[in-house]
Amino acid sequence: MIKELRVKTENKYEMVDLTANIRELVKEVKEGILTLYTPHTTAAIIINENTDTNISKDIFNCFGRLIPEGTWLHDAVDNNATAHIKASLLGPSETIPIQNGKLLLGTWQSPMLVELDGPKERKVILQIQ
Ligand code: ZN
Repeated sequence: MIKELRVKTENKYEMVDLTANIRELVKEVKEGILTLYTPHTTAAIIINENTDTNISKDIFNCFGRLIPEGTWLHDAVDNNATAHIKASLLGPSETIPIQNGKLLLGTWQSPMLVELDGPKERKVILQIQ
């Protein structure tokens, strides 16, 4: 089964927790794997903590120090080279095991869309196998 979510981001950098969107989807699944995939080159999917929102701020601040804006060849095209680099480091997908209708996430884990060049409308493809 494949389902597509549309996520509207509101900021240049933003993490959107997808947990609520996918819990309902897996509740009838006895055992399987959920893949979350975003078909974009300036957004990513990660699993990390969303309870302390300072973590997402720290991740974006870290990336800002490691991969500064305005110094890359691709900036001549559409001025978003850092977003492409950050997205390639984070990756476009994650997988989560499912058992008895539940995602086998750790207590502090949340699957999130990472916006790196927003605001935009992003697609997230969900596939259960
Ligand atoms: Zn670009």
